Amino acid sequence: MIKTLNSIFDLMKMLYISKKIENNPKKSRRDIEKTANRKIRDIVKFAYYNSEFYRELYDRAGIDINNFKLKDLPIINKKMLMENFDRVLTVKDIDINQIKKIIEKQEENLKVCKDKYYLLATAGTSGYNGWFVWDRDYMVTTTAFAKARTPVKINYLKMILKGYKSVGLFTCNPMHLSTRSFSMGVIHFFKMRIVPIHQDINTIVADLNKFKPDFLTGFPSIIFNLAKIKQKNKLRIKPENIVTGGEFLSKKVREYIEDVFRTKVYDVYGCTEAHPISNMCKEQEHHINEDFCLVEIVDKKLKSVQENKVGCYILLTNFYSKTFPIIRYMIDDRILIKKKKCKCGSNMKVIDIKDGRTSTMFVFKNKRAEKILIHPFVFSTMLELMHDIVQKQIIQETEDWLIVNVIKKERSSKIKIKNKIIEGFEKIFEKHNIDPRKIQLDILFVDKVYRDKKTGKVQEEISKIYKI
Ligand SMILES: [Zn+2]
Repeated sequence: MIKTLNSIFDLMKMLYISKKIENNPKKSRRDIEKTANRKIRDIVKFAYYNSEFYRELYDRAGIDINNFKLKDLPIINKKMLMENFDRVLTVKDIDINQIKKIIEKQEENLKVCKDKYYLLATAGTSGYNGWFVWDRDYMVTTTAFAKARTPVKINYLKMILKGYKSVGLFTCNPMHLSTRSFSMGVIHFFKMRIVPIHQDINTIVADLNKFKPDFLTGFPSIIFNLAKIKQKNKLRIKPENIVTGGEFLSKKVREYIEDVFRTKVYDVYGCTEAHPISNMCKEQEHHINEDFCLVEIVDKKLKSVQENKVGCYILLTNFYSKTFPIIRYMIDDRILIKKKKCKCGSNMKVIDIKDGRTSTMFVFKNKRAEKILIHPFVFSTMLELMHDIVQKQIIQETEDWLIVNVIKKERSSKIKIKNKIIEGFEKIFEKHNIDPRKIQLDILFVDKVYRDKKTGKVQEEISKIYKI
């Protein structure tokens, strides 16, 4: 009962916030910048007074908390936050040891700690494992932004008469941002379900054919493969709205999906540390949510980059993540700010995303010699939950050969990590009716992982045999 009341309360609050922020993008540049500037100062002050880590960081840098220039604030990264986890946290009723226990048990109901906190795991393009703790208020706020900024069209008459069904194609890992935000979302109104992507593609297709969703959201790589199947007339769904996220969406993939499903695809860009950083408007341009976060684009030397030039990193400041503040946090994504006024009427900055988590698939043969595709997330999220791994990378060399590169924590046991990975991967293979004995699995302990020569980014999952 209390849970239901809480959900209704969260939903009302989400709708209220969503309404309140709806017209922010139409405000003048001056107003948008003024509000952002106030929000930066608020979150910096909050972090200073509530997080030991930030207080020490700013004191050491000689920052006057009441009068500072943004560029004087020290830049932080995931490694720093993870090494100082308890001191970054602004709440005292949860700590890293409790979180480790929760992760170890891997029980879904424990992922909401003390009915207050949401625990999310991520690796991102840096490949470093990280955990973040958000409270209910924050989750409600992010959902409100996602709702207010996604140009989803809903035929209300049809919805009342027939109902509205939405599907999220996600990992089903409760610690994954996608699954969390979808289950919190707008979609409470509607009939919703998460179709786990760790199932093989035929099961997903059968499930979708039965459910017939009006709204489809998920990773571009999965939706792209569904489009290919739809073209062969094996997938019989006609979603009115498609929203992608979680991976880099190329123009080619977007246009193919749009062509097959005959509807526009709207992408959302974000990461566990701040989501949604930007949303595609109805003109399919990505606008930064400048009332939610600050995005600074910098070059290799961390110097600010001009408009229309691609940066090397972004420095992210989340205005709302109070339990675990994210201020001038370095992310590996390369984006540029376009010098243009968008036709949609939004005055928020337009960006072009150059890369992000690469979208790929792993290809195997099952016991019946059928070709099956598995999303790499299925393997990497399993590794993300292992806290003795600092960084990892999975490379598929051939249909029966996987290499896992692991950078482990100094004192962790190699044998223990190795056995855990083998056990986890075998479970995944068996679930997909793949004979684990036929797959060569090389687990290598390395000092560094492979980086893309062109972009310098860590590619967490590489398939040498899958081609779009
Ligand atoms: Zn626009």
